[in-house]
Amino acid sequence: MEDLKLLAQIQALDSQIDEREEKKREFPRRLIPLKEGAERIDQELREAKGELEDLQKKRRHEERELEAREIELKKYQRQLYEVKDNKAYAALEEEIALTKEKNEAAEEEILKFLEIEEGRIKGIKEIEEDLREEKRKLSREEEKAKQETEILDQEIAKINITRQEIAKRVSPSPLSRYEKLRRGKGGLAIVPLEGSSCGGCHMNLPPQIVSEVKKGKRFVVCENCNRILYWEEG
Ligand SMILES: [Zn+2]
Repeated sequence: MEDLKLLAQIQALDSQIDEREEKKREFPRRLIPLKEGAERIDQELREAKGELEDLQKKRRHEERELEAREIELKKYQRQLYEVKDNKAYAALEEEIALTKEKNEAAEEEILKFLEIEEGRIKGIKEIEEDLREEKRKLSREEEKAKQETEILDQEIAKINITRQEIAKRVSPSPLSRYEKLRRGKGGLAIVPLEGSSCGGCHMNLPPQIVSEVKKGKRFVVCENCNRILYWEEG
């Protein structure tokens, strides 16, 4: 049963390849939290910028109104020299005092806005720095994953060469039986005896089966999981 021994070797190599393929699939999963982190900070940044824009809009509106009232004020002050009767003069004076009051309040309001904006701008810079740091982390991890993938691919290619050499020496029918079984059994088609149990499903095997596997004269399968059994001597 040379075929069985060779198939057991092929199984070992296939398992090594599977292990490496699984590791390769892990890499994108490892990057997910970092990508999500960057996306979260980016969202935070967009919101902070939106809030700042709203503040700036409100402040500019105040500034425009202030400017308009300053023009009004100058007009009133010019009119002071033109009015003839006392009543109109008093009304104008009152209008001037009221406008000045409004303008003082607006100036204070604008200063408050500027103060808040300054704080927000500082906050935005901090968020931007966080985002840069998160993106740096992400690209470092991506680079690492790329390098590790290359190493794994090289290893897989090497293992495949050995596998092909061994596969050439196996009779075609057992090889296709093995490959079909492997696809159906999650990668594990040939398993060793573990004492008197199946190395695939760990079911205890009848003594007759165990002794037949040890003789190695024909293909013996586990009654429970259908995998081909073999005996590793020594
Ligand atoms: Zn089994």
